Amino acid sequence: MLWLTGLCQGWSFDTVVIDPGHGGTDPGSEWFGVKEKDLTLDLGLRMERILQARGIKTVMTRRTDVFVDLGERAEIANRHREAVFISLHFNATVSGDITGVETYYLSEGGMRLAEVVHSHLMRKLNTRDRGVKRNSLKVLRDTKGMSILIEGGFISNRWENQRCRAPWYRQILAEEIVAGLIRFR
Ligand SMILES: [Zn+2]
Repeated sequence: MLWLTGLCQGWSFDTVVIDPGHGGTDPGSEWFGVKEKDLTLDLGLRMERILQARGIKTVMTRRTDVFVDLGERAEIANRHREAVFISLHFNATVSGDITGVETYYLSEGGMRLAEVVHSHLMRKLNTRDRGVKRNSLKVLRDTKGMSILIEGGFISNRWENQRCRAPWYRQILAEEIVAGLIRFR
């Protein structure tokens, strides 16, 4: 199928598969009392509301605080042919001074999508632009359609942690991801 190989001119999709990273027994990173799994779920639900208000179909890989295997997340995405897959994460590192947002892709189509969404994010978020990067992450490898993974900020940095835990920040993230998706479409 052309849309899988990145040769197709119109990058149409009818469904957005939203993948809030981690969950349940897997909290993801945990810094200053904030768990990554809670931030990704809240961000995903915000995206879902915005997309649905714009009449775009959504599928969530999880809607509650449950563990979902990485393979299962990709399987959910692969059930929808004309879908884009957006995996949501927050970053952490032992070096507390690192901040910024980065977006990962693997396929050629994913690269185009990552560039558009990332540029929308950097337009509104006053933080370091860590760029768009190619990485063979399992969820990107296993999804057949276009897929990207967004790291929405470093919760290991005190300043960025304060922002990531604030609803206004996650609302901007959600709005700009959706704006990028709509522009891409
Ligand atoms: Zn993560």
